[in-house]
Amino acid sequence: MRKLVAGNWKMNGLVSSQAEIEALKGLTGSATCDIVVCPPFTLIDRAVERVKDSNLVIGAQDCHAQQSGAHTGDVSAEMLADIGARYVILGHSERRVSHGEDDEIVRAKAVAAHRGGLIAIVCVGETRHERDEGRAIEVVGEQLRESVPEGATSANLVIAYEPVWAIGTGLVPTNEQIEEVHAAIRQMLEERLGSDGNSVRILYGGSVKSSNAEAIFGLRNVDGALVGGASLKASEFAGIISAAV
Ligand code: PGA
Repeated sequence: MRKLVAGNWKMNGLVSSQAEIEALKGLTGSATCDIVVCPPFTLIDRAVERVKDSNLVIGAQDCHAQQSGAHTGDVSAEMLADIGARYVILGHSERRVSHGEDDEIVRAKAVAAHRGGLIAIVCVGETRHERDEGRAIEVVGEQLRESVPEGATSANLVIAYEPVWAIGTGLVPTNEQIEEVHAAIRQMLEERLGSDGNSVRILYGGSVKSSNAEAIFGLRNVDGALVGGASLKASEFAGIISAAV
C-alpha cells in the first residue's frame, strides 16, 4: 500500500511559515508516498494556494459536526472543503483531553467529514497508565469501534494509532508493541469493513522523526505516519517523507 505521511502543525505557524510549505513542494515531485500537511485553520487557505499543482494536499486539525449554525468559534467540514482542504484529523488525544471530546463526538465529526467530502484521520491511542495495566488493545479497540462511523471506507478513512505517552515526549513504543496494536486495528477494520478494511491506511504517530521513520515504516501494517513536532522542520519532515517508500 502506498504510504501516507501527514504533518500536524498543531497551534503553530504564522503567515511567515509559508516558507516551509514552499520548501516541501520541491520534494513532492519525486515522493513515493502521499503527503498531507495540516496547518492551523488560519493558514489553510494560503497553504492550499501554495501547494496547487503539486501532489501535496492540505488538511485541517478538527471540524464541527454540524454544517452551519450558531456554533461560535467552530468551523464545519463543508467550510474546510470549500477552501480546498482534503483531510481532517479527528479525535486527536489533545482534543479528547482538553476539549472533552469522547468517541461519540469524534464519530459525529467523522460523519460530518464524510458528508463534506473530507477524508477523516481518526486518532486512537492508550495512555501510559492504560498500557501499564495491559489494556492498550482493549482501549484502542473500544475507541475504534465507537469513533468510526457507518459508511466509512478505505477511500474516506485513515486511522492513526498514537499512544498518548509517545506524543511529543521522544518516547516510542517498541517495534513489537507497534506491530501488535496495528495488527489488532487491522483485524478490527476487516471485521467491520470486510476486505476493504485491508486497504484502510493505519498510521503510527508519536515522536516520529527522520532517524526512526525508516524502522517504523518497515513494520507490518504501518502504512504511514502522523507527525507532530518534526513536521514543523522542513528538513526533518523531508527525511521522514523520503523514508516512506
Ligand atoms: P509528535 O506529535 O510527533 O510531536 O509526537 C504527534 C501528534 O500529536 O500527532
